[in-house]
Amino acid sequence: MNLYNIKDSSEQVNFQRAVKQGLGRGQGLFFPETITPLSNIDALLEMNLVDRSTEVLSHLIGDELSKEVVHSIVSKAFTFEAPVKKVTDNINALELFHGPTLAFKDFGGRFMAQCLAQFKDDGKITILTATSGDTGAAVAHAFYNMENINVVVLYPKGKISPLQEKLFCTLGGNITTVAVEGTFDDCQAMVKQAFDDQALKQAIGLNSANSINISRLFAQICYYFEAFAQLNTTQRENLVVSVPSGNFGDLTAGLLAKSLGLPIKRFIAATNENDTVPRYLAGGEWVPKATVATLSNAMDVSAPNNWPRIEELFKVKNWALSELGYGKLNDLQTKEALTELDNLGYLCEPHGAIAYSELTKQLKQDETGLFLCTAHPAKFKESVEDILGRDIFIPEELASRADLDLLSKEFPVDFAKVRELLMSL
Ligand SMILES: *Cc1c(COP(=O)(O)O)cnc(C)c1O
Repeated sequence: MNLYNIKDSSEQVNFQRAVKQGLGRGQGLFFPETITPLSNIDALLEMNLVDRSTEVLSHLIGDELSKEVVHSIVSKAFTFEAPVKKVTDNINALELFHGPTLAFKDFGGRFMAQCLAQFKDDGKITILTATSGDTGAAVAHAFYNMENINVVVLYPKGKISPLQEKLFCTLGGNITTVAVEGTFDDCQAMVKQAFDDQALKQAIGLNSANSINISRLFAQICYYFEAFAQLNTTQRENLVVSVPSGNFGDLTAGLLAKSLGLPIKRFIAATNENDTVPRYLAGGEWVPKATVATLSNAMDVSAPNNWPRIEELFKVKNWALSELGYGKLNDLQTKEALTELDNLGYLCEPHGAIAYSELTKQLKQDETGLFLCTAHPAKFKESVEDILGRDIFIPEELASRADLDLLSKEFPVDFAKVRELLMSL
């Protein structure tokens, strides 16, 4: 397949190049040159997750990878389910948190890891990433025990939740975690410095596994098909999907699924108080403000990276941006939505609750609603327990790691130390 750089369409790459490179010139995002709708949607909906995802991804990627290779990548990446659960008569939840790190980022992270392993030549690869929580965990688990691939994750010491830290800092092996005595921005800055260091980059085969990688979005397309397949024919007719959004990768993937022919009626972009997109869709001005901290902290993003892809897709498909629903919740409203869900017998966490609440406001009588649950409630244990006033169940994936020792190194904000570590692996 061919992809072009949205900022400079003269830069064209194939899928493999786009996955390895991440970003194009001038930090431009890669976008598929052609998106041909699938002609066999009904047959695809009869298949299981792995077979259907193989078909959808093969169709997108084209003859660059054989169907056997795509099947092998997908079957190693998608080893868990994405069940649809009934919440009310006309509203369902799509649970995307049944992977090893209990958030939807496992889909993209694991697919990307398997793609990189497939595309790898004899040299070694070092994945360096900065995280404020979910991404680092997903990346670390996705690459764990892969041969000739080392992963280094930098995170701000004391600024991620204790359970979060246990999840990815207890793995060892090819995963090295570093607690930096600084902020997330300090970690991010050292990652950027490493990428600007050409000698280092060459020596260790540096790659970023960051969230704008096209392979992540492709993986996420697959669970929109999976959700649709689990609905009955009436529910499929007028389906409205509400997506809790931060960097807008999840929503981009949903819109790509629609552009491939999946008949989703419309989407709702739901945010917290970091509402650059809702304000833009309401008034036409793109004015990111300073990021504010909220209960749904994985969506604390004020300049969403994937937004240019959404605009590009609406342009090439000739869709009107006015068709896109939007809305935002503050923390108080988020707590109310979470409580409302709990009263309906559905335990949720802040991100999913925001998507649910916007859906209830915007869903019309003859429509069926689906909202995305992007993380397991236990990942946000402290706030969920605080809001609901009771203890919640901690799944085995988290509980079993809680007693393990943290293996992280501790560094000051000092790039020389990070460089030395990278060279020593
Ligand atoms: C990353 C994340 C989001 C935001 O997803 P985007 O694709 O960045 O919009 C929402 N919820 C959770 C739990 C996340 O980890």
